[in-house]
Amino acid sequence: MDAITVNTSDLLPLRTTCPYCGVGCGVLASPDWVERTVGCRPVSGDPAHPANTGRLCVKGASLHETTGSDSNLRFPRVLGARVNWNRALDEVTGAIREAMEHHGPGSVGFYLSGQLLTEDYYVANKLAKGFIGTPHVDTNSRLCMSSAVAAHKRAFGEDVVPGCYEDLELADLLVLAGSNTAWNHPVLYQRMKAADRPGRRVVVVDPRRTATAELADLHLAIRPGSDTLLFNGLLVWLADTGAVDDAWVSAHCNGFDDALASARVSAFAPQKVAEACDLTVDEVVTFYRWFAETPRSVTAFSQGINQSVAGTDKGNAIINCHLATGRVGKPGASPFSLTGQPNAMGGREVGGLANTLAAHMDYDTPGAWGAVAEFWGTDRLPQAPGHKAVDLFDAVHRGEIKVLWIMGTNPAVSLPDSERIREAMARCPMVIVSDCVSHTDTTALADILLPARGWGEKEGTVTNSERCISRQRAFLRPTGEARADWQILAEVGQRLGYREAFQWRSPAAVFREHARLSTLDNHGSRQFNLSGLMDITDEAYDLLEPTRWPITARQPGGSRRLFGDGRFSTPDGRARFIPVRATALDQTVARPGRMRLNTGRTRDQWHTMTRTVRAPRLVQHRPEPFVDMHPDDLSALGITEGELVTLGNERGGLFTGRVRAEPGQRQGEVFVPIHWSHQFTGRGLASALISPVTDPISGQPDSKNGLVTVTPLSARWHARLLRPRGASRGWQADYHTRVPQDHCDSWYLAGKQPEDWHRNITRWLGGAPDLVLEDSAAGTFRAARIRHGQLDGVLLVAREASHLPGTAWLASLFDGRELSRHERRGLLSARNVETEDIGAVVCSCFGTGEKQIAAAIRAGAGTVEALGEKLRCGTNCGSCIPELKAAIEKRGLSSVPV
Ligand code: SF4
Repeated sequence: MDAITVNTSDLLPLRTTCPYCGVGCGVLASPDWVERTVGCRPVSGDPAHPANTGRLCVKGASLHETTGSDSNLRFPRVLGARVNWNRALDEVTGAIREAMEHHGPGSVGFYLSGQLLTEDYYVANKLAKGFIGTPHVDTNSRLCMSSAVAAHKRAFGEDVVPGCYEDLELADLLVLAGSNTAWNHPVLYQRMKAADRPGRRVVVVDPRRTATAELADLHLAIRPGSDTLLFNGLLVWLADTGAVDDAWVSAHCNGFDDALASARVSAFAPQKVAEACDLTVDEVVTFYRWFAETPRSVTAFSQGINQSVAGTDKGNAIINCHLATGRVGKPGASPFSLTGQPNAMGGREVGGLANTLAAHMDYDTPGAWGAVAEFWGTDRLPQAPGHKAVDLFDAVHRGEIKVLWIMGTNPAVSLPDSERIREAMARCPMVIVSDCVSHTDTTALADILLPARGWGEKEGTVTNSERCISRQRAFLRPTGEARADWQILAEVGQRLGYREAFQWRSPAAVFREHARLSTLDNHGSRQFNLSGLMDITDEAYDLLEPTRWPITARQPGGSRRLFGDGRFSTPDGRARFIPVRATALDQTVARPGRMRLNTGRTRDQWHTMTRTVRAPRLVQHRPEPFVDMHPDDLSALGITEGELVTLGNERGGLFTGRVRAEPGQRQGEVFVPIHWSHQFTGRGLASALISPVTDPISGQPDSKNGLVTVTPLSARWHARLLRPRGASRGWQADYHTRVPQDHCDSWYLAGKQPEDWHRNITRWLGGAPDLVLEDSAAGTFRAARIRHGQLDGVLLVAREASHLPGTAWLASLFDGRELSRHERRGLLSARNVETEDIGAVVCSCFGTGEKQIAAAIRAGAGTVEALGEKLRCGTNCGSCIPELKAAIEKRGLSSVPV
């Protein structure tokens, strides 16, 4: 056998950045072979990264399980046929050229993503706006934080987050508004939690009692949509109690009187605020008092604020209170927008939103249009902003966009009114999709598929929520023929005839140009300034340390906080109070079966699951689409926990999921997750229930608001089917969800009509069964099929879902081994007496199930620490601790806070 020579430097893990949420954790990563060779972990937290100092949440810690998948897109495809790159790019270029010639540049649209690296984003923006000449370039960041962007611009004159993560720890009062950080920014939540100390207070403003509320000294379960009222009321309280920093306001701000007058119109005394927000007076006054008396206050806000028709106003209502108290950009004192995606901020920097031009310059920024045109050397720059996301797809639907290029995102699932989005894409003459994933609801509608490099395969930078630019570095060989997005775009730019403008040789060269553009006419007018990096060498770019912008010659190490000196990016350098009025709240939902809808994320999944689903342990936490409802609502509607229900809205949108009794829900409201797509379930798209109405300023959809009716599915049978991955489907069911496992697919099924199992069993198992067990009186049917000694399928049917056994052991038998006699005997009971049914996984880090936890609690483990000692659960990333506490409380034992 030949000896393999390994260079020891190849064994060192590479420093890169997590591609999921906006926390932007540093990751140490190595290819799998290093793990096999020397046994080190392929992925761990980077102790030297300022965002996480070595921590990772379970999603980050599972990254190595999601790379190099068979389901990566490997080769370019045109109308389904594999082609070479030359042919694919000819097709792309030809379609764009033809659309430009016959319909004008505005007939080409781009829909980008916060998953792209800044270099990719920069080249996309330059190609689209600068050389194709279309303004219609928007990004999925529109769905995430465009309201915060608009609020920043209105108040500060620029889209700037003034604080840094350290402020979340330094704050003596931490207000978390519309933000389930425990699940959506887990490492930041761990930092906030670790910073707990006597005297530090936390207020959580959220209609739901989420896992984050575990940290709260005060949880304000406000009526959905009443945030503006709450913060307007706070502004009035600050003014009426002498808590406004008059000297700071008069030295650094404009518009205080108008904002206060406007706040007084809608938010008056705490009694009225309490009534409108559905809180007690005591809760409102406590919050207001705490805010007024705590100089070190941070208000961190996220999608619960942004995803609203009044998202921009909500953001400004928060910022107004911080301006009034002079708490902006100071240690432990700032408003703080928590970004959803890993590079939403990088996209904002380059101008990836349709209403911006480039490098924090807007179309109407004086002198910007001419300066950018000259910098790029183009005369094709559009004159005015383009369509924002929802409008862009409307334009596609109307037939105005002839070529739509979607990069690294899944709008067929994530945009509101998803059926109409699919219709729009189906109507579009040319849909180009660049992605690293082959099968998504969006790639299914593409005419041209371009394989893009995924995480671990690509090089570039990302910017997290605290303005920190970090490198993503490649440590894996690209899948198939996948190319970097910036390279694909640059090649198209060159083929369109703009050779000189698109001739970079490396992402470092793109970054240098991006940094240079940030300095254009920027003599302090814009905080976004990378002048300190515009001449960065390739070597220095390779070694670039995480640094918060602005990065200039004067501040080469970046800047933690901005605006603390009271100088803002407005023309006169003063911040602007924005008068905001609370919109009237729709309180007319109360009629039997009709509920107010809220949507959001789960702990272990990311966006539309295209990558996180590849790590089976991440699927176990919430394997199916679900509907959270208050137990009293369930009783009133005669629905039991675990039943399947269908939510419907007036436009015909439908969502089917399994009911969870959730006491943290407000009555009359339901919550559904955003992650499931048609790749995994039949009718489980939250976006199908969302109307395409948007904030008039930011264009952000009202994704957390809808009215739905709740109807039990009334299934006659429930089943679990396990088949090898990718096995063909010859069956139909009224409800199905596919849960990928390590070696098979596990299907959750239900039907409203009786099924003749005996007659149709070959459809379900893909052939005749070898073992069958039926009890028609009890409504149970079980069958298994074995091929060449290996398990090929198992079907378990019962009248009630709760009567079905756990299938973890069965799933483990699909690993290709020949079944033993003992295993064959256990197939139809789904039980190997030697293994334990652990129930749904609560702790994904250690695979601890709810049944194990319940047993440990029964045996006396009455604290989170005791559970951790016994089962290890909750001792790594800590994301499951709120669920452990809930399990302890549910069983009547007290939980000692950790
Ligand atoms: S907190 Fe966010 S960035 Fe950090 S590891 Fe988890 S998903 Fe990745």
